[in-house]
Amino acid sequence: MSGANLDMARIRADFPILHQEVRGRPLVYLDSAATTQKPQAVIDALVRYYTHDNANVHRGVHALSERATHAYEGARERVRKFINAREAKEIIFVRGCTEAINLVAQTYGRSRVGPGDEVLITGMEHHSDIVPWQMLCQHAGATLKVVPVDERGELRLDLLDSLLTERTRLFAVTHVSNALGTVNPIRELVRRAHARGVPVLVDGAQAMQHFRVDVRELDCDFYTLSGHKMFGPTGIGVLYGKAEVLETLPPWQGGGDMILSVTLDKTVYNRLPYRLEAGTPDISGAIGLAAALDYLDSVGRDAIAAHDQELLEYGTQALESVPGLRIMGKAKERSGVLSFLMEDVHAHDVGTILDREGVAIRAGHHCAQPLLACFGVAATVRASLALYNTREDIDALVRGLHKVREVFA
Ligand code: PMP
Repeated sequence: MSGANLDMARIRADFPILHQEVRGRPLVYLDSAATTQKPQAVIDALVRYYTHDNANVHRGVHALSERATHAYEGARERVRKFINAREAKEIIFVRGCTEAINLVAQTYGRSRVGPGDEVLITGMEHHSDIVPWQMLCQHAGATLKVVPVDERGELRLDLLDSLLTERTRLFAVTHVSNALGTVNPIRELVRRAHARGVPVLVDGAQAMQHFRVDVRELDCDFYTLSGHKMFGPTGIGVLYGKAEVLETLPPWQGGGDMILSVTLDKTVYNRLPYRLEAGTPDISGAIGLAAALDYLDSVGRDAIAAHDQELLEYGTQALESVPGLRIMGKAKERSGVLSFLMEDVHAHDVGTILDREGVAIRAGHHCAQPLLACFGVAATVRASLALYNTREDIDALVRGLHKVREVFA
């Protein structure tokens, strides 16, 4: 049992990939912020779909197509319920957070952002919540503004109101920093942005695998998630948008499914959500994602949140005992990520030595180069946690770090 009352032996048994040796050592997987492992229930759902039901959706008249459509639309409803969206049409299936943000930048952004306007982001965004806005601003003649981050790794909220101007067309902010683990106070940010009439997009790539997210409570206008970071397959993600906002978006990609009728002169576009889902979607991915959400609920989202938080605290204390180790990011609210540096040892060398011990972590800039630059570093070591990690995993990491010290002594 974990302190949060999760039956860890049972949970670990649900993830077949964890039970292997890597370089002659039992695998210790601490790279879940990059991608999570998949429970057997998700793998089974994919196998079942391809074994029994595979067909294209929405336009078939035969039984398999009906089943595939039912399962795909069922997955949409499953996501709606999981994030507490009002209507299923507010759930747009995309490839992941990257595609979701690009969709908003190229539809909402291109139709609303013009010369002299501003888009506001923060200093702790992942590249996928920076570059699409840079591209948009360049195209539109607009300016990208940034809420800075302080030395603890928290947003400078004291500057927010002055950065939200009458020219701000959108505020895009991450729920949880993938590089530092900082959890941002989204409800408050949304309230303050809305007070200025500014809509908010929340990048949720690192949130829902750790704690409950209710988009209606947050009141954000857009929320994005990546299935592969929450125990689902790669290639599937979600853009949530308030119906009244999505209804105003111009179509994005053109093609099948997003139309009602096409002549060579004119196309009539489909209703939501199909209008924003051109072409054959990732049917199996959506079904696998729904299975992942069922799995999360079967384990219990509150129990997962308690487990992850407790493990983060244990990990923080354990790392602080390693000589010459400096934890990056000391925000009051953190989730899932332990980012650190070791004196006189490059992050990549730490990663290589840990790999020899069977410990999988990430070393580098974590696609958040501007954030690391503001801390004056080019790379950190990042151990990231998920519901299948245990105190033993942290202990193995710490043993590995002592090996690193020996090698570089
Ligand atoms: N935002 C954050 C905070 C992330 O951690 C990631 C993935 N590392 C992304 C966006 C991009 O997600 P994806 O690669 O699944 O599109």
